[in-house]
Amino acid sequence: TEPEAVPSGSVREEYEKLVDLVRKYRFAYYQEDEPLVSDAEFDALFLRLEEIEALHPELVANDSPTQEVGGEVSAAFAAVEHLQRMYSLEDVFSLEELEAWITKAEASIVKLGDTARPAWLTELKIDGLAVNLLYRDGKLVRAATRGDGTTGEDITHNVLTIKEIPQELTGAGFPPEMEVRGEVFIPSKAFAEFNEALIEAGKAPLANPRNAAAGSLRQKDPAETAKRPLRMFVHGLGARDGLETATQSETYALLAKWGLPVSPYFEVLGSLQEVLEFIKRYGDKRHSLMHEIDGIVVKVDDLATQRALGYTTRVPRWAVAYKYPPEEVHTKLLDIAVNV
Ligand code: NAD
Repeated sequence: TEPEAVPSGSVREEYEKLVDLVRKYRFAYYQEDEPLVSDAEFDALFLRLEEIEALHPELVANDSPTQEVGGEVSAAFAAVEHLQRMYSLEDVFSLEELEAWITKAEASIVKLGDTARPAWLTELKIDGLAVNLLYRDGKLVRAATRGDGTTGEDITHNVLTIKEIPQELTGAGFPPEMEVRGEVFIPSKAFAEFNEALIEAGKAPLANPRNAAAGSLRQKDPAETAKRPLRMFVHGLGARDGLETATQSETYALLAKWGLPVSPYFEVLGSLQEVLEFIKRYGDKRHSLMHEIDGIVVKVDDLATQRALGYTTRVPRWAVAYKYPPEEVHTKLLDIAVNV
């Protein structure tokens, strides 16, 4: 679309309202772990914000929500600086958009001088909470939420209650300092059981696994976190000086060898067609998987290519998240939103 020359008063007004709404919804989602609207509704607002900014670049401020990784640091936790920044992911909402994204990425990769077709590491997009684990000489020394991407919240005591996360890596060859990134989640079955127990005890059930996982990890009392059925799957690294691997999938194999929980569901695929088949396959069974997913993540597997493509202020240029179309499941949340 062609940029419109001067934004009319009403466009600016709509834009400012949208910015305020997105900030308010992000705060409820990230800080209070209690969303006011469904993800689909939030995504629609965010898309509209991006659309207005594309038409009126002069409206884009440095602190626009589109330039930032959502989330802040609550005063209830100590702030910790990540050694390397954490990012969000670019979303696409249709298979056509995904195809366009992959075609464009393949063209950029050819421009980099890479003649081989890229391999696409295709994974489930786990609907949980992003966590950054810092290992020094193989020992877990700190765990933090993503926060604004630069600074997160120190949740070490809570993460130490998750048995699946090794406090000490096994084997050898790990770098002196390594940031392991992944998603903490509550498996669907464990969530249903946990809620049943709450109801039996006369307590209010938790709204959904994602917010339950986030709320569980952001408890003040680790004993409370320990009662929640939390799990983690690792999906990337931050700082990794001295770790020589060529691809992300090879890195996963190494992380698994060191005792870190790697998802069993990823595949390295050679073509768009195979990626589309993966999306269809998991779309059909998305409600019978061990955890909730809100989409599929497609990443360039080759790490040198990832480095060459780099990042925007908010997302990597070497990965994209395909979001499945929203479903009726969200109506409950929508009702709540309407009533507040
Ligand atoms: P995102 O959730 O769309 O994508 C980035 C995150 O995906 C990463 O931080 C990572 O933790 C996670 N992820 C899960 N599986 C992954 C994998 N296999 N590989 C890599 N990363 C993986 O982006 P976001 O910035 O965290 O938040 C936006 C999301 O949160 C949207 O889904 C949006 O709908 C939702 N949200 C909802 C509300 C609301 O009010 N309902 C408010 C804010 C955000």
